[in-house]
Amino acid sequence: MHHALTILALVSVCGCGSWTNWSGTIHCQPRRVERPRSERELRAMVAAGSHVRVVGAGHSFNALACSNDVMLDLRELNHVLEIDAARGLVKVEAGITLHDLDEELAKRGLALGTEPTIDKITAAGAISTASHGTGFGHGAFSEEVTALDVIDAAGNKVIIDGGERLAAARIGLGALGVIYAITFRVERAFNFEIDERVVGEDEAFAQLDRLPLENEHADLFWLVTEHKVFLRTYKRTTAPVHLEHPAADWLLEHVVRTWVAHFGLAVASKIPGVTPLLNKAEPSTFRRRVEVDRSDRILHRFPGHQRVVSMEYVIPVEHTRAALRAIADSLTATGFYPNVPPYVRFVGGGGDGLLSPMRGRKSCAVEVLSYPGFAGWERFFRDLEPRFRALGGRPHWGKLFYENPHSLYEPAAWKGFASLHREIDPRGKFDNALMRWLLH
Ligand SMILES: Cc1cc2nc3c(=O)[nH]c(=O)nc-3n(C[C@H](O)[C@H](O)[C@H](O)COP(=O)(O)OP(=O)(O)OC[C@H]3O[C@@H](n4cnc5c(N)ncnc54)[C@H](O)[C@@H]3O)c2cc1C
Repeated sequence: MHHALTILALVSVCGCGSWTNWSGTIHCQPRRVERPRSERELRAMVAAGSHVRVVGAGHSFNALACSNDVMLDLRELNHVLEIDAARGLVKVEAGITLHDLDEELAKRGLALGTEPTIDKITAAGAISTASHGTGFGHGAFSEEVTALDVIDAAGNKVIIDGGERLAAARIGLGALGVIYAITFRVERAFNFEIDERVVGEDEAFAQLDRLPLENEHADLFWLVTEHKVFLRTYKRTTAPVHLEHPAADWLLEHVVRTWVAHFGLAVASKIPGVTPLLNKAEPSTFRRRVEVDRSDRILHRFPGHQRVVSMEYVIPVEHTRAALRAIADSLTATGFYPNVPPYVRFVGGGGDGLLSPMRGRKSCAVEVLSYPGFAGWERFFRDLEPRFRALGGRPHWGKLFYENPHSLYEPAAWKGFASLHREIDPRGKFDNALMRWLLH
């Protein structure tokens, strides 16, 4: 399903007239979608356009990438430009997917230290919204960036490689110029050992404080109606790759938990009474697994990719339990019956990204999801949002949010952002409706 939807998003980008994001829930009508094939073409297109918005792989759940004028799709700018293994740096074009980047690094015995779970997204799209993985050892993926080659509104190349300008540009929301190239910090290739199991929610929640401290990475899927949790912990190892039943697990992830689950959810969204049956069956599709694999393959391991809508708030970690209670309270208040498990990760507060939702504090990233066909998910998200905000939460820039997050950041952060914005784009060429709402 994930591949089919990616193709759908791609076709809608190339087909003139309308653009749809990966989840099929956000639409816009660009006048033109352009696909530059070289830096020169990119600079010329940027200089010529009056309003320009760049799109990555279209995996964001909100209208951040949308434009009704020119949209630039950089997926043909997807090459590795330089690798400096000795200094642990790789410079890539902005449109490379994380999957292709990981493969290129693996060929050279290198790896990223952290990255988001999804590998179909572009490097520039991932950093621009402060996307993240799990583990206190890292902040947002954007913090792995050491330099950016950015095209300004006049079509000139600007190198940003430190100081407050990089702190702003690393999470640019598509408004601080068009990123042409990104330099990432990388390390020597390594393996993770992952331990996956289903446990009772009491047992899982009793460990909430310890989990991120005792494990380099930990995340959990809350099977709310079954009072269970699918829990994963992973740590570095020098052990060789060891997979128990790779073919069966591939079928489970890509067929059962993606296509079959998608079909089940589509039916359940029309026939009340089916969702409880699906929820009941879900824990039995997971089994205890302790496996070792290449770091990127573990970081991208995900139990199925059904079409969803998503809202995620990054909340100070000491409020993890309160955040889970808030979900339960909102479900009760709105009567919404969960059909996709809430997902909880832990993220470090390191790095200087001005608009990083996790900056300066260890956090839990708490995500609620729904298959879009179910009535009532938006009422549930809207009821939950103020509860998350009351806990000090800040929204993920690439997911749904309804209240303006402007006031959730220090004025100095917006000042730094606005200063680079003025320098790169004095007339607002890169702004769209969502950006204007955020900035003013
Ligand atoms: C199935 C799925 C799984 C996900 N998993 C995770 C996860 O594990 N962790 C997480 O944090 N998030 C996750 N997300 C959210 C996702 O990581 C973000 O929405 C991400 O920004 C999407 O990247 P993209 O390449 O699709 O960019 P798009 O959504 O197309 O664009 C995102 C933003 O980046 C800007 N942009 C893109 N390219 C450029 C460029 N070259 N120069 C300047 N700006 C640019 C766009 O203008 C836009 O503002 C997931 C989303 C989905 C659908």
